[in-house]
Amino acid sequence: MDYTAQLDLRLQTLHSEGRYRTFIDIERENGNFPHALWRKPDGTEQEITVWCGNDYLGMGQHPVVLEAMHEAIDATGAGSGGTRNISGTTVYHKRLEAELADLHGKEASLLFTSAYIANDATLSTLPKLFPGLIIYSDALNHASMIEGVRRNGGDKRIFRHNDLDHLRELLAADDPNAPKLIAFESIYSMDGDFAPIEAICDLADEFGALTYIDEVHAVGMYGARGAGVAERDRLMHRIDIINGTLAKAYGVMGGYIAASYKMCDAIRSYAPGFIFTTSLAPAVAAGAAASVAFLKRSPELREQHQTQAKILKMRLKGLGMPIIDHGSHIVPVMVGNPVHTQKLSDMLLENFGIYAQPINFPTVPRGTERLRFTPSPVHTSDDVNKLVNAMDSLWSHCALNRAELTA
Ligand code: PLP
Repeated sequence: MDYTAQLDLRLQTLHSEGRYRTFIDIERENGNFPHALWRKPDGTEQEITVWCGNDYLGMGQHPVVLEAMHEAIDATGAGSGGTRNISGTTVYHKRLEAELADLHGKEASLLFTSAYIANDATLSTLPKLFPGLIIYSDALNHASMIEGVRRNGGDKRIFRHNDLDHLRELLAADDPNAPKLIAFESIYSMDGDFAPIEAICDLADEFGALTYIDEVHAVGMYGARGAGVAERDRLMHRIDIINGTLAKAYGVMGGYIAASYKMCDAIRSYAPGFIFTTSLAPAVAAGAAASVAFLKRSPELREQHQTQAKILKMRLKGLGMPIIDHGSHIVPVMVGNPVHTQKLSDMLLENFGIYAQPINFPTVPRGTERLRFTPSPVHTSDDVNKLVNAMDSLWSHCALNRAELTA
């Protein structure tokens, strides 16, 4: 085979479909986020405002987090130097796991190098623990859950997104004695819509299923102490396994599950994605623990975040922009064509210094390509004004549809 020609072919497919992804090289400056420098391919640079980051609360530059990381580096050095089983478990990892178990009101938690790995490793291991397990997975679950369910060799059923009737139908069609698990997200990050958590838990009870929730786009941001939507809705005790990230609202890196002591012990003992990889750097664990602890006591930041999102949505709606509004912090503006989305994103960046990466297939279904804005408490009203004015002028310039989509 001509391997190079084959690679060219595969890449050309992406180019012709308008979904070839390019990196935008940015240099964040501590204390100045969401403002950053864009290092352009031609060697010049431009000041930009980041509007598509997942450092939702600006914790990536919070002094409490940075101080904890500096202290840990000075005290302990850089890497952990081992897997969790072989010299890579430190006081920092233990402290963070205790912090997370407490956050979610669970007996234990288990750290992974990312929430992607936490989902993949846990969901691919569960059938080893529960032979014959059937996993019921929401059609819009994140790629990491899909991979975990796909690789596990067990049975799976995909229910239509948030469709309780379909989920019930699938549960009812299976052997009542088979072990079952329902896997879903609390907030779907591309549309910003919420799962009907309570109704899913009711179905799980009725059919004897375990529940698995991905709260990656909710931890730090929802609930009295930032434990997510299940905390806000007083449902944490009804979820068997909660998955979260330390890389988005907590501003650092890493992922985890929180569950019963026995569940964590079994995953710890059987999941290759936990066992055979170096543990998080201690300073990362220290920064994440500081962030989680800080956000437990900082409802103001969560409130400011929600207010910012409401303001941005209101202003874009006021201009007739086709935004999706499910009452969460995510602000998607529908474009519906990958080439147009890319073009709009390029123009925002080059002409207005506004960075919003286009969101294309396979992240979202074809025909629903969009710009996805992530307002944060560190965006100023001047930043918001500039974004709204830029969108207004681009929409007019490109003669785009101003019809409104409602939730
Ligand atoms: N789950 C969902 C729903 C996500 O959107 C993401 C990342 O965007 C992940 C899991 C993975 O999180 P992490 O970045 O910690 O790997």
